Amino acid sequence: MTLGYIPVMEAILDAVQSGASGDELAAIPLPESYRAAFVRKKEAEMFAGLPSSDKDPRNSLHVDEVALPELAPDECYVAVMASAINFNTVWTSIFEPLPTFGFLRRLGRESVWGARHDLDYHVVGSDASGVILRTGSAVRNWAPGDRVVIHCNYVDDQDPSAHDDSMLASNQRIWGFETNFGGLAELSVVKANQLMPKPAHLTWEEAACNALCNSTSYRMLVSKNGACMKQGDVVLIWGATGGLGGYAVQYVVNGGGIPVGVVSSPAKVKLLESLGCEAAIDRSEKAYRFWSDEHTQDESEWRRLGADIRALVGEDPDIVFEHPGRQTMGASVFVAKRGGVVVTCAATSGYMVEYDNRHLWMKLKAIKSSHFANYREAWDANRLISLGRIQPVLSAVFPLAEVGEATRQVQRNLHEGKIGVLCLAPEEGLGVSDPEFRQKVGEDKITAFRRLGA
Ligand code: NAP
Repeated sequence: MTLGYIPVMEAILDAVQSGASGDELAAIPLPESYRAAFVRKKEAEMFAGLPSSDKDPRNSLHVDEVALPELAPDECYVAVMASAINFNTVWTSIFEPLPTFGFLRRLGRESVWGARHDLDYHVVGSDASGVILRTGSAVRNWAPGDRVVIHCNYVDDQDPSAHDDSMLASNQRIWGFETNFGGLAELSVVKANQLMPKPAHLTWEEAACNALCNSTSYRMLVSKNGACMKQGDVVLIWGATGGLGGYAVQYVVNGGGIPVGVVSSPAKVKLLESLGCEAAIDRSEKAYRFWSDEHTQDESEWRRLGADIRALVGEDPDIVFEHPGRQTMGASVFVAKRGGVVVTCAATSGYMVEYDNRHLWMKLKAIKSSHFANYREAWDANRLISLGRIQPVLSAVFPLAEVGEATRQVQRNLHEGKIGVLCLAPEEGLGVSDPEFRQKVGEDKITAFRRLGA
């Protein structure tokens, strides 16, 4: 049986809020459509010819009802209480470097279930917290009523290449970026192997903001698949109060490393200090000009950064946590210690990077690539959140209706940490089921980024 969208969603929300049992939740009929944030294929050329900064997600991201897709046997319907903005939603909404409809078309060719994704709209979002409403017939470990967070590694577990490190799977994808039915919505369809338990001491929005960036930073720094940081390592972290950097700093501090955080304001330097990162560089004050013009890098500016790092911690970085890309990669390779590692997962400022290869080979440095995290890594990173060892880096919260504005803020680097989005949750502060543990971890620690964003 199906009902209209609004009465059903109200019934689901009432049930979640009143702590209804899984059976009660499973008995609520599902709507035929649900409210979601999406871009339209027919608008993929809307920003043609504009500079990236003028491509405004507020014009391309729409919030409206879309059809609820059928559920595959290995999937679940999740009532999404909250989600978060990731930079991949910036890329999708400005159609750079490519419109994401090509990803959906390729997924659509893979199987009957894949074909559901190839639509003329793309529901975006790669993070979420919520409650399971239904499980497919092949789902074993999860049930309606389970409170979950969702990681974005989307793999076909019948593919042999997915069975060592699933990030090496030949058809590995990022949910809500390279698949449809993402998390910036009131309902979502996810594979059972994307589910993880929601940390009980966090609100819906605090729980929703972690999985993508926290797991990525965990793999980059802690995992044997990344830089495998050890006690005492000096780690240079670009964007150290950004989405990735805010977790990276915590991993370095927890793991006995020595973080050197690069940020772009005195307020962010203060935030770094509160995270236990004493060595901070305010790049806006230093005004490094690694590129003297569009084609030429200035080695003396790389040296100036290196000298600033040595002045703070007395030595060169064992690890450079790299993601800005073109603007910083030359400097990152230069400042890494002899034998050090530059671990990179992105290129926000441009992916055609350039560095002086002599500094790489003569000093036996390495560049290690990294991309999201496998299920094990995401699970271990989520466990550290649940244990209160890693804190959410939520700084601001928007309603789903203002997803365009939230995405614009991330695009323009006006935020710190993560921006959360309330989906079904009617207000902030809901969803904590273990208040005693929250008190033990400490409100101040959990909301450190929120206070900066206030
Ligand atoms: P974010 O929240 O915007 O943080 C990035 C930070 O980098 C900014 O806050 C800024 O900090 C700094 N930054 C930006 N441009 C810079 C530049 N030209 N030079 C130096 N610093 C710069 O974004 P995020 O969530 O951390 O993601 C960063 C990048 O990683 C994005 O491109 C994203 O798509 C990518 N990413 C990749 C993966 C993956 O699995 N491969 C996962 C997550 C994210 P300051 O202004 O304070 O210096």
